[in-house]
Amino acid sequence: MRGLLVFATLIVVVLCRESFEGHQVLHITAKDDTQISLLNELSEVEDLQLDFWTEPVHPDLPVDVRVPRQSLQMVKTYLDSNDIHYSIMIENVQDVLAEEQQVMFATRAGQVKNTDAYDYANYHTITEIYNFMDMLVAENPNLVSKIVIGQSYEGRPLNVLKFSTGSNRPGIWIDTGIHSREWVTQASGTWFAKKIVTDYGRDPALTAILDNMDIFLEIVTNPDGYHFTHNSDRMWRKTRKPNPGSTCVGVDPNRNWDAGFGGAGASGDPCSLLYRGPSAHSESEVKSIVDFVLAHGNLKAFISIHSYYQMLLFPYGYTKTPVKDHDELKSLAYKAITNLASLYGTRYRYGSIIDTIYQASGGSIDWSYNQGIKYSYTFELRDTGRYGFLLPAKQILPTAQETWLAVMAIMEHTKANSL
Ligand SMILES: [Zn+2]
Repeated sequence: MRGLLVFATLIVVVLCRESFEGHQVLHITAKDDTQISLLNELSEVEDLQLDFWTEPVHPDLPVDVRVPRQSLQMVKTYLDSNDIHYSIMIENVQDVLAEEQQVMFATRAGQVKNTDAYDYANYHTITEIYNFMDMLVAENPNLVSKIVIGQSYEGRPLNVLKFSTGSNRPGIWIDTGIHSREWVTQASGTWFAKKIVTDYGRDPALTAILDNMDIFLEIVTNPDGYHFTHNSDRMWRKTRKPNPGSTCVGVDPNRNWDAGFGGAGASGDPCSLLYRGPSAHSESEVKSIVDFVLAHGNLKAFISIHSYYQMLLFPYGYTKTPVKDHDELKSLAYKAITNLASLYGTRYRYGSIIDTIYQASGGSIDWSYNQGIKYSYTFELRDTGRYGFLLPAKQILPTAQETWLAVMAIMEHTKANSL
């Protein structure tokens, strides 16, 4: 009977979902700036409905793009005729999604009773993650509390876990999942939460941090988008607020911050994946963090976690002008990625956003840095273009574990240098 129910649930869920049957992800390596320009021209052809997983910016960085079945022939002909090299990264996106769903449902334990029984090695719905948060708070009342910093456009609470052992302390902010389809980030955030309560009182470094500072962790930073990735469109990145005068929905919540807002590396087109929104902080998911950070007034680190491409980045993204703490942020980034690599050998690039990936305006860590939060960093987690946003669940634990070493390096340095 239970098997039948699970099967029925699977059918219902599958039927309501956007299908990616026949979509391919191409891994394109441009050899020079001319080819990059050609790829940019391609990206402007709206009828092709291309979904750039990584942007065409410079020849050093491969460009991954999801191409719907009906556009495949045209895109491949265009690439071939311009002598632009590519390989097929994902043969059929729907097959990978089917596998992802099967793994999620096959091991589903239903509502678990405590956080020890939670399956950290699997992807979870927002309901399951929110239940996890409540259980963690109930199990660790002297260490963890839940703060609701606002509401999403669709009315979901914006839950933040606060890890604290005293009052009036400086804080560290960590967020995951501001781009909803980057599922390994919310999964890693959940694992981080459990790791913190497990290590407090056992691991001297983490204990010293929490004896002096509070940690704030927002796991599902874009809850409407995350819900939508589970129920309608696995590839959804933006918020879910309608745009007046457009049929396209949502704003890129990492182009919406008041830091170079409206500049290069964001779009004014509501249909773009990089749409910045009508004004800075127009999205409640962003504004709620802004209000929280300003009201707190004493955050020392701001860490925002994305995927993918294995990078550890610091400000700025909107301008070439280096931040005044460039050298310190760079050497700390190097230490962090060295620690990260010590576990499984995963290699990261590092540097300022504009030097390492591309110009991007309206990003969160540029804003936080400009508020005086010196240790502002963005991660791009695994991988470098095998599965991209569709990282298999069996990579969640290694990804979370290695990332934690880098997060700890940043937090330890923050404690040592800002108290
Ligand atoms: Zn992202």
